[in-house]
Amino acid sequence: MRKFTLICKDDPTTQTLVENIKNSLINKGWETSDENPEVVISVGGDGTFLRAIHTHQDHLQNCFFVGIHTGTLGFLTNYASDECEELIEDIEKASVNLVELPLLEVCVETEGTCRTVYAVNEMRIENVIRTQLLDVSINGQRLETFRGNGLCVSTQVGSTAYNRSLGGAIIHEGINAMQLTEITGIHHHAYRSLGSPLILSEKSIITLESDNFNQAILCYDYLSLPLNQKTRLTVSYSQRKAKLMIRDKKSYIDRLKSLF
Ligand code: NAP
Repeated sequence: MRKFTLICKDDPTTQTLVENIKNSLINKGWETSDENPEVVISVGGDGTFLRAIHTHQDHLQNCFFVGIHTGTLGFLTNYASDECEELIEDIEKASVNLVELPLLEVCVETEGTCRTVYAVNEMRIENVIRTQLLDVSINGQRLETFRGNGLCVSTQVGSTAYNRSLGGAIIHEGINAMQLTEITGIHHHAYRSLGSPLILSEKSIITLESDNFNQAILCYDYLSLPLNQKTRLTVSYSQRKAKLMIRDKKSYIDRLKSLF
């Protein structure tokens, strides 16, 4: 039996929609299961979609994701709430229209231990209490010592999220670039860093190091980790990719226009 699961916002409109989708799929012989589902359906916004991917990040090979939005047109959620029938039909098809969504991989090395986390939109090092020093290298070559509140590394998909609020560029879909953006950098005669967003190829490896991360946080999408001691973070595109079922009719420009 084919298995599906749903991740949704908990407002009443979303709940009604979820019940309809669930009943339609069960009537067609599907089973709901959180264990190794073939399809993960996210109902809500882009934030809900991020939660769906993180929940199932350890079996991305065996499932695909589809998003139905109950608010404004999403970047990750591309079926509208009145397109449930089309969504069910498309899920049932033997060959669905899938695109691969690359994830950022962040290796956090502290005192000989290494922990890896993944992000769909971005990773950020943020310190709102103290000036954070960060030594930045690209592909092993030193770029700068940054001083300020922190740095953000975003994916193409994440370019319309936090990165956009930092004044970073929006990157059109199909370009798997990585973008490094400053979070309130200090720039004067003594302290200098690039000061503008830097767009890098998907093969790039960014290294961020500091001897002191006191009161700094590593944020990755909606998740976070405290960073206290001397730490080295390596950021690159991961081999892990989420498969996203898409609907053809909405262009990237249409989705972009719905953002503002
Ligand atoms: P959240 O409430 O889930 O999301 C915050 C807002 O960001 C929501 O309006 C969400 O859209 C939108 N969003 C998320 N991913 C997006 C994308 N790829 N493109 C365009 N908009 C997107 O907040 P959260 O749980 O704290 O964090 C999740 C993500 O939200 C983070 O990865 C970060 O990028 C973003 N965020 C942005 C800011 C900012 O711009 N200042 C602040 C906090 C978080 P929906 O309404 O469709 O869910």
